[in-house]
Amino acid sequence: MDNVLQQPVTQIKGIGEETSEALQEMGIKTIEDLLMHFPYRYEDYELRDLADVKHDEKVTVEGKVHSEPSLTYYTRKKSRLTFRLLVGRYLITVVCFNRPYLKGKLSINETVTVTGKWNQHRQTITASELKLGALPEKRDLEPVYSIRGALTVKGMRRFIKLALEQFGEAILDPLPETVRNAYRLVSKKEAIRAIHFPRSHEELKQARRRLVYEEFLLFQLKIHALRKVQREHSKGIAHTFSMEQLQEFIQQLPFPLTGAQKRVVQEIIKDMQSPYRMNRLLQGDVGSGKTVVAAIALYATVLSGYQGALMVPTEILAEQHAQSLQALLAPADVSIALLTSSIKGKKRKEVLEKLASGDIDIIIGTHALIQDEVNFHQLGLVITDEQHRFGVEQRRILREKGESPDVLFMTATPIPRTLAITAFGEMDVSIIDEMPAGRKKVQTYWVKHHMLERVLDFIEKEVQKGRQAYVICPLIEESEKLDVQNAIDVHSMLTHYYRGKYQIGLMHGRLSSEEKDEVMKAFSQNHVQILVSTTVVEVGVNVPNATVMVIYDAERFGLAQLHQLRGRVGRGDEQSYCILVADPKSEAGKERMRIMTETTDGFVLSEKDLELRGPGDFFGTKQSGMPEFKLGDVVHDYRILEVARSDAAKLIYSHAFWNDSSYEALRLYLQESGVLHGEKLD
Ligand code: ADP
Ligand code: MG
Repeated sequence: MDNVLQQPVTQIKGIGEETSEALQEMGIKTIEDLLMHFPYRYEDYELRDLADVKHDEKVTVEGKVHSEPSLTYYTRKKSRLTFRLLVGRYLITVVCFNRPYLKGKLSINETVTVTGKWNQHRQTITASELKLGALPEKRDLEPVYSIRGALTVKGMRRFIKLALEQFGEAILDPLPETVRNAYRLVSKKEAIRAIHFPRSHEELKQARRRLVYEEFLLFQLKIHALRKVQREHSKGIAHTFSMEQLQEFIQQLPFPLTGAQKRVVQEIIKDMQSPYRMNRLLQGDVGSGKTVVAAIALYATVLSGYQGALMVPTEILAEQHAQSLQALLAPADVSIALLTSSIKGKKRKEVLEKLASGDIDIIIGTHALIQDEVNFHQLGLVITDEQHRFGVEQRRILREKGESPDVLFMTATPIPRTLAITAFGEMDVSIIDEMPAGRKKVQTYWVKHHMLERVLDFIEKEVQKGRQAYVICPLIEESEKLDVQNAIDVHSMLTHYYRGKYQIGLMHGRLSSEEKDEVMKAFSQNHVQILVSTTVVEVGVNVPNATVMVIYDAERFGLAQLHQLRGRVGRGDEQSYCILVADPKSEAGKERMRIMTETTDGFVLSEKDLELRGPGDFFGTKQSGMPEFKLGDVVHDYRILEVARSDAAKLIYSHAFWNDSSYEALRLYLQESGVLHGEKLD
């Protein structure tokens, strides 16, 4: 927008110091701030037939007063006025609280317009607004604004109206005409006017569409500009190795790669060979085979004369990965080592020395890898698994242990595309969207709590066949203590129920990491047949002989988490089962259970989860790096997001964008946001 709009709101005739101060409290300082303070909803006084109105819905009706109003006082100030109103074929009751003065104004047969909540059972409207007379022929949608302090919604409407009257013409359009014409977008000036004071639903829709597109386009321009800058300025490692040697290695793997694995290996290898620093996210559902992809990439870095590091969030996982990589890389001549906090003393010293001298090619570890004492000879590739568990800071430290090593983030949380392109926009994304052949799908059932006994008998049958089971206890977000207590209770209940016939293990967050490891070891060696646990087993644990996953109070978990838990079974050759024990009260809860029984595809689930819970909740925490948009909603407006994304990518790499005067406003925006100087996105 133009500089004129950067002036303080006091420049608006009719806004004085007092109002200006009240507006400041809300962060509204300039005229632009005020114009960009959009309504969060609209009052819509559309007349509707009561037959179409649902219970508890807000409605506006027009009718004739049919009975003398009766007035009751509760206290001196609190009163209740009721009268009968004839609305078309309906005779309904209208209730007004604390407006005693209306009594004298309402006479029989007088036409009034009432807005309020419709109680279908009582055929009553509790009026929030009552106007004498009929509804005017042409009505606008009335904007409703968030306000604070001394401000009122009506006041806010007036201030914005004043701002538009005086400065509306000064609103410039950052979008060039070619772009606007291509999508038939209204001008910014028109859009801002219409988002505040729409004359129809259609006008509002067009205004929103236009502003959302601009918002997404600017965001995507920032991301693509940042990527371009990063690519052009990063002095990464250009890995050089013999492709034949790598192919030979792939040939002798115990199984052929799936099509999806081949594709992502290609993408990763291409990045590694290029002089750019790889910054890639590898997404693949649980069991889709990410480990072997990691092994291939690590081998490529070793073939190029560099070292590789794989960082995972827990010791159990580190050990498991070390074992799998040892096995996969056994035919190749590489040295692999493990580094966790339980590796101590002489052994630790030896690992650190060999790492610094280059005698270790591949290191697998936990946070231990990012400690100061860890030095690499020549780090070429860093891989992190289950990346959402690591902070941005930890990833940076590991990355800085080498000179611009390539970086690959692996995650088993399928991130819906819409979120991936917003939250991880500055990364390249590879997706393994195909399971290895012959995998049996986990059969999922939803049962109510009263059927628990049958579930326990089912577990017993599987255990008698030599299989094992997980029992996940309800999650209590507010209190780890209660969480643990729950697990202890379920553990003793099961011990009781099976009368000592089977070994029942207990796992929760209060155990030390040695204790946890011990429990996991016992379970993986089948010394323990049934493992009662809180959600700590969620990440990556691999016990192929376990075929039953029982999840208590499953409605408390999000779909993404349920899917992770279910991924703990179905890892061997036997048919596996997931049993959700839940009596969900909400529709959304029931829906989640249904979806779980219907699909095992993590991407389908994650899209559904996003729909049901919204982007804010998807990652569980606020640290997700999801940008907040003023108007745009990445779920509902994903089509606009996709279009804006591809437009932004084209623009950034076009000659016109950097030279044509029609793109000046957009270029200026990029300059001001700092991305052109290689600064980080916030
Ligand atoms: P995740 O993506 O969950 O880390 P893993 O890498 O642990 O999955 O792989 C799961 C299992 O599938 C492992 O036992 C692995 O050996 C096997 N696997 C991986 N890729 C293939 C393939 N192309 N064909 C057959 N089995 C495979
Ligand atoms: Mg894995």
